Amino acid sequence: MLPAIRLVSEAAALAARRHNGMARKGRGNEPYINHLAEVASLLAQVTDGADAELVAAGWLHDTIEDTGTTRAELAEKFGEHIADLVVEVTDDMTLPKLVRRQRQIEEAPHKSVGAKLIKIADKVSNIRARIVPNPSKEERDDLIDYVGWAEKVVAGCRGGNALLDQTFDDTVRLARSAL
Ligand code: ZN
Repeated sequence: MLPAIRLVSEAAALAARRHNGMARKGRGNEPYINHLAEVASLLAQVTDGADAELVAAGWLHDTIEDTGTTRAELAEKFGEHIADLVVEVTDDMTLPKLVRRQRQIEEAPHKSVGAKLIKIADKVSNIRARIVPNPSKEERDDLIDYVGWAEKVVAGCRGGNALLDQTFDDTVRLARSAL
């Protein structure tokens, strides 16, 4: 395995290159890399930096789903464990959105602890991005819809890290108070 600082830095660099030019949904079309930095940073904070592979996987968590990066490539560069984590949090994009959402709810309880933590951090970041001042009706509906679904997914992911569970609950509370 690469030394921790290399693992995290090289994962961040690959993610930045692969997601180059992409924007995220919500809050002012931020560059996609902001989402990845937020997820990786949340994972680093709640584990107090104890798990470099988890943080690296946080940087890389959308590369297979959104950029055509392969599991084999991640395994070669970052090792089998990180490749497995990213595969675990990758949706099958050939399926319709509603089917993918239902699958996430059903499959969450069967994921590894690391994959569950990435999923919760991902939902925290995606909810935060949807909290905007003076939301339009469309933005409110989108936030209500997203939070309702995220709570169902996260229900199957809890228990691996109390601080992250708490952060999710705080984020949901903030979202509801913003409506
Ligand atoms: Zn994500």
